[in-house]
Amino acid sequence: MSSVIPFARLRVTTDQRTHRPGECDHHNIRLDPRGGIVTCRDCSAALTPFWALTMLADQYAVALAHIERLERRLAGADARILDLSAELDAKQAKEPSKHSPTFP
Ligand SMILES: [Zn+2]
Repeated sequence: MSSVIPFARLRVTTDQRTHRPGECDHHNIRLDPRGGIVTCRDCSAALTPFWALTMLADQYAVALAHIERLERRLAGADARILDLSAELDAKQAKEPSKHSPTFP
């Protein structure tokens, strides 16, 4: 008995999918307006329109929460810039300017 495996019996295939059906969260959907059919672009799973609407509503809520966080950070950064600017102005007002001419 030979220990050599003939290559003719082996078949190697490459899976081109970026998502596997068991791992897919179906965030990339395709809407067929004629049939009202919703499928996942990544794994080709058929999805119910209600599931797709729920997923989109959840993603919308996540995006709005992200926008609100960014707006709070921006407001905080603006307030910090104003504080630092006022602090710098007060510091410059106390110190004599090195660049202004001095008159005896
Ligand atoms: Zn999917």
